[in-house]
Formats: sequence, C-alpha cells, structure tokens
Amino acid sequence: MSDETLTPIPDQVAAFRVAVLAKLAYSVGKDAEHATEHDWFEAVALATRDYMVDFWLDDERRTQRKKQKRVYYLSLEFLIGRLLFDSLSNLGLLDIARAALAEVDVDLDRIRTLEPDAALGNGGLGRLAACFMESMATLGVTAHGYGIRYEHGLFRQAIVDGWQQEQTETWLDFGNPWEFERPEVVYAVSFGGSVTSITDAQGHQRQIWQPAETVRAVAYDTPVVGWRGASVNALRLWRARATEELHLERFNAGDHLGAVAEVARAESISRVLYPADSTEAGQELRLRQEYFFVSASLKDLLRRHLSQHSTLLNLPQQAAIQLNDTHPSIAVAELMRLLVDEHELPWDKAWELTVNTLSYTNHTLLPEALESWPVSLMERLLPRHMQIIYLINAHHIDALRAQGLHDFDLLRSVSLIEEGNGRRVRMGNLAFLGSHSINGVSALHTQLMRETVFTDLHRLYPQRINNKTNGITFRRWLHQANPALTQLLREHLGDGVLDSPEETLPQLEPFADKAAFRKRFIEQRRQSKVALAALVQERLNITLNPDALFDVQVKRIHEYKRQLLNLLHTVALYQAIRAEHTTEWAPRVKIFAGKAAASYHQAKLIIKLANDVARMVNNDPTVRGLLKVVFLPNYNVSLAESIIPAADLSEQISTAGMEASGTSNMKFALNGALTIGTLDGANVEMSERIGLENMFIFGLTAQQVNVRKRANDYNSEAAIAASPRLAEVLLALRSGVFSPDDPARYVGLVDELTWNDRFLVCADFDAYWDAQRQVENLWRQHQRWWRAAVLNTARTGWFSSDRTIREYATDIWHALE
Ligand SMILES: *Cc1c(COP(=O)(O)O)cnc(C)c1O
Repeated sequence: MSDETLTPIPDQVAAFRVAVLAKLAYSVGKDAEHATEHDWFEAVALATRDYMVDFWLDDERRTQRKKQKRVYYLSLEFLIGRLLFDSLSNLGLLDIARAALAEVDVDLDRIRTLEPDAALGNGGLGRLAACFMESMATLGVTAHGYGIRYEHGLFRQAIVDGWQQEQTETWLDFGNPWEFERPEVVYAVSFGGSVTSITDAQGHQRQIWQPAETVRAVAYDTPVVGWRGASVNALRLWRARATEELHLERFNAGDHLGAVAEVARAESISRVLYPADSTEAGQELRLRQEYFFVSASLKDLLRRHLSQHSTLLNLPQQAAIQLNDTHPSIAVAELMRLLVDEHELPWDKAWELTVNTLSYTNHTLLPEALESWPVSLMERLLPRHMQIIYLINAHHIDALRAQGLHDFDLLRSVSLIEEGNGRRVRMGNLAFLGSHSINGVSALHTQLMRETVFTDLHRLYPQRINNKTNGITFRRWLHQANPALTQLLREHLGDGVLDSPEETLPQLEPFADKAAFRKRFIEQRRQSKVALAALVQERLNITLNPDALFDVQVKRIHEYKRQLLNLLHTVALYQAIRAEHTTEWAPRVKIFAGKAAASYHQAKLIIKLANDVARMVNNDPTVRGLLKVVFLPNYNVSLAESIIPAADLSEQISTAGMEASGTSNMKFALNGALTIGTLDGANVEMSERIGLENMFIFGLTAQQVNVRKRANDYNSEAAIAASPRLAEVLLALRSGVFSPDDPARYVGLVDELTWNDRFLVCADFDAYWDAQRQVENLWRQHQRWWRAAVLNTARTGWFSSDRTIREYATDIWHALE
C-alpha cells in the first residue's frame, strides 16, 4: 500500500527495525536475544504509537489554529478489538513492519495474536462506536471519544459441559502499550449529599450542591489513526480513583481494612463493564458509571472550549456532543448544572446551548432496554440533577399548556417522569428533549421510533427525528479481516477500492459474470474456510469439510435474534437427512458463536441447546458427513475477523421490527456471504441495494408482526399443528432426545414456544425452512451462487461507516467544511 502521506525515510524497513529495537531496549528493558514474544509485541506497538503521535500533535495544532469544530462522541462502550494491524495498516506500515521484523526472525502475524482484545463493549452498539472513531479519523473530523477505561472488559466465555461459564477478562494484565496516562488531566466527580438555596451578593437565587462523596476521574488517551494517516483523534477513557489513596487516620487507628474500603468503593466505578446487552441493568453502580464518565467528559470539553474561546455562548458552533444511546443521557442535566450553577448562565440561555449542542442516537425499541431510574435513587445519588430534571419537565409541560395542549394522556406520555408504581425518570425522554437531533440507526428502525416509543414527542417536535443507517469500517472488516479478497479487488479495480469503496466497488459488478474472476473469488473463500476449519479443529477437535456450505450465525445470544429458530431448523434438517434418503442434501456446517448476559437464563439455555445438538449430530454416523454443528466459544472482534471471511451464508433472522440495524449483516455481505434474513433493521436497505434475488428474504414483516401482536390472535399451537416438521422437532426436544442426561431440560422451552411464542419463532418456521431449501438450490447451481456472492460484495459499498459519519457530520454536527 502506498505511503505517500508519510515523511519519506530512505530505508523505511531499516528505520522501523531500529525503532522497534530501541523500544525493546529502552522501554521494555530486554535485548533481542532474551525477548519473549510478548516483549516483541510491546516493542512493536510502542514503535507504531510513535508514528501516530507526530500526526496527532500536528492535528491538534491545526484544529486550534483553524478553530475547527470538535465532535465529542460519548459512549459507555467501545468494542475495539486488537489495534496493532489497524494502526500499522492505516499508517501504511504493515508490509514495512512485517519485513523489518523478519530481519530479526520475528513473525509479525504471530505477534499480532498476542494482543488481547480491548472488549470494552457488549456487541453492536460498542462496535459501532469503535468503527465510528476510525471513520472520523479517516474523514478528518476532529473528534474525541469519551468512555470508561474498564479494568475488566466483557467476560470471557468458557463452555463447560455445554453451558456458558463467565470468567473474568483481564486485558490490562500486561499493561496497555497504546494508551497515554494523563495524571494531570483529572476531574472531581461527586455524588450524594444535599442542595441548599442561597441568595448571592447580586440578589440571585443560587443552588449549592454539597456532595457527600467525591471520586477522581483520571484520563487515559488512546490515539486513533485514520486510513492513510489522514488524521489522528483521541479516545479518552476515564479511570476512577479515590480522592485519598488511604484513609490515614483510620489506618493509624488500626482499622486497616476500613482504611482502604473507601478506595475500593470509589475505584469500583471503572472496575467492570456491565455485561447486560439490551436489557436494563437497574443497578446503582450503573448510574454511578454513567454519571462519572459524563461529568468528567463535560468538564473536560468545557475546559478545552474556554481555553480556546473566551465565552461559552458559542459552544454549539464549536462543539457537537453525540450521545450513544441513553447511557450518557444524564449529560442533559449535567450540562445544565455546569452552565447554570458553575458558569452562572441564565436558565433559558443554558437550555438553548444545551439543546443546540447535544444530539442523541437511539439504539433499541425493546421496552426492557429503555433506561429509567427510580426518582428516589436519583434524589439520593444526584440531588441537584433531580431538581434540574424536575425544572426541565415543568418548563416543558408549561410550554405545552401555553400552546393549548391540555390532553392529559399526551402530557403524561411526554413527561420526563413516569408516574405509577414508584416514580421513575425516563432517560429516553430526557435525551430527546435535551437534543436538537434524535436519530435511529436504520430506515425501518427510525420509522418505528416515530410510530412507537416517541410518537407523541415526535408529534411535538417533527423536525428532530432523523435516520443515520449504521455502517462498518472497511479497513477492519475487509482489509484486515480478509487480505486475500482485498488483494483480489485491488488487482481488478485498482487502489481506488481502498480509498473510495463506495464509488469503486460497483465497478466489480461486471466481474460477477466472468468465470475467471469467480474462480479467484471462490479460491479466496476456500482459503478462509480452510483457515477457519483449522481453528475449529484446534479449539474443538471437530473436523470440518471446507467444501461444505458454511452457514453462520454469530452475535449476542438473545431471544429476539432467534438463534432458536436456527437451531430448530438444524434439528429438522438432521431429522430429514436421516429419514429422507430420496432428497439430495448439500453438505452443510452450522456455525454459532455469541455470549449471553450472565443473568439471562433463557439465552444460556439456548447455548446449551446448541451444544447438545452439536454433540448429537456430530457423533451420529447416519448423518454421513452432511451436517456438522459447531459452537465456537468466546465470540469477540478477533474471532469475528476469522469467521466472517469464511462464511457462505449469513443468518440475520431476528423477529421483524426488533433488530434496530445490525452490523454483522453488513460485514458478511461485504465479504461475499449471502444473507438469509427477515425484513428487519438494515436488512431492508441491504435488500434494496443488493437485490432480493441475491438474498434469501423470508418471514413476517414488521407490520405483520405488529398486527399479530395487537390483534392478540397469534396462536403458535395452530402454527405447530399446521407444520408436521416443526411438530416433530418440538416433540424430539420435549422428549429429551437431545438431553438424555436430563430429559426434561427443554420441556420449559418447548412450552414457551407453544404457549407464549413472543418472538414468533413458530410463525416463521415454515417460511424459514423453505428459504433454506432455496439456499440449497442455489448452492447447487454453483456459478449462480458465486455470481450472487460477487454482487453482494459489489453492492455493499454504501454500508461503509465513512458514509454514515459523513451524514452525521453534515446533517447533525455541521463539522465538515
Ligand atoms: C459486529 C459485531 C457485533 C454486532 O453483530 P450483530 O449481528 O449486528 O448483532 C457484535 N459483536 C461483535 C464482536 C461484532 O464484531
């Protein structure tokens, strides 16, 4: 790849080698002879970071000189994965580094695997934040990511006897070579206490918050470099520290444990990522985490603003703050508090600045995932914020009444406070009211937002809701994950495919009809499948046939994502392969991976079922090699990078209306897998671009799902009675065929499907079965399958996160000149 953006160095390979050896000696403290592989990784990472720093400091100087608008992306999660190849590749140093290390007998590709995944997120929402950071650096948007530096990221998943077991994740055990600790960048964040009202010398009424407890937020910066070193931004993560390391008085009095208890309480805030995905965490610690990072981030950005501009009145012109879901939505109240209480702006002015600076991205319509906090908890933990929220609410409701809106139901639905059994603060409504832009993450999801969660607020503020369909960064999900396909694309489309895939990838379409090209495409896929088969052999001791159809569903385990539908199909296929000898079955491998929230029992049972089905199928000789089932443990970004290039079929089968967007659907299509899916989330827009004839779309639409639920006329008993195939599958599960050690294990699950099929698994089963037969039909028509696969790659350019970020920057942030 070209390096024209780098300072020319006469011999870049030699220079890189020298840089690495210097880091090895002076930062790691080892010589080449005694260095472990991990020492090498650290030296390479540190040398790479130096290259970024030069760009970084330049960029900061330029931003200050030009007074460029800054974007602040607040997210409780950043699912980053490994950074080594990301950084090297974007700096144009990948081949240089590989050659430099080869000269000292070190294999860069082996060193790569030693880096732990930075798993500071649960799934799609956190991964989106990571893709956005990379795209913002690529597009030259001056951006700062803000989040929490969790000591323990998402748990490590072990599978023991088929059950998920959660183990502590320890990504920081060997330190983190990418980050800069900033001990001088530290803010006090307070909790609890009380508020007193005083009248100041000018006769103004002022509220003074006297908190009971204060912790320190210490900054750690990780530079994020864009493609071809376009620009470097910082991801600033906060670590919680106690205000005093040790309570010396108590220690001296002999209370050794009590003396450190406060330290432990303070530091627990950044100890561990909440593993709940899409469900309400409902914990005081969670609210403390949210306020902790929001408060530190807002103080930091206001300080930066004031150091460059003498006034806060131009804040919306110079700063845009994006809230990734409701997790940072306490920012509405905290920004008001800072502007009114600390910077002494009048309320109305502060409100105008707040609304014009903040914008909010909604990620889910699931009612259990809409955050709300008990008023009593807010009053205890954040008493001044609770006052501010009440005031915002009063102004809001008064304004509506002044417009002549008195309808009780309307006022109740748009209120910030949910009345009823125990009053709660609705964080979604708070984020909506405090933002000038509220966006959904796919066209369908945005439409459903207008029609469901925010119907009434949308009617009052029809301009605010807009759509920004998610995207993925092609640098990670194509260049790094699939170098063979990337190379093939470069050969046929030129390097433009690296720089502007949105314009260049469509030029691949004519190659879909060229047998010679398809042959190369097939060879690439086979290579990736052989590599994945080796990984499965090594980790699970299961042998896969690389010529079988690789049918893949990898994502968080959640009932709405319907891994269960896929498993029911797997069982039905197993039964059919054994019984229906007259049919020609295409050899197939069902691949599953994903984590379940530790407290989500039904999801954990689904993992157990996948493993029970796998054990049965894989050990049954009558299957004749036509079906294998694997559940790969510990799904994370790195595992996704290995699995996705090897997939032939991508499973995106959520109950329509429930998946806000999905992003793995885009990763798979970009790499040339065909999608079997419902018309849900971004699948809808994918089908408009890729063409229905190149996907397998099945099942109820969101509207049909809605009609069934409303009419309350959905009866899965009838669906089961009408489908002998489904009935047979359920009978086998119920009678313990797959759980001989505990025959009753799946009785509850089958009962649930029969009497309370909330995710319409049974309703879609037959349509899914039929779609899977179409999959096999096309798979057998080899050349037609691969033509469709090439077209999937050619038509996925629009789903680049560069396009998404360009839309945010233009429509919401006004940050691209
Ligand atoms: C892309 C990605 C996700 C999101 O997957 P969906 O299928 O869109 O839910 C989750 N986890 C990881 C590790 C990912 O890379």
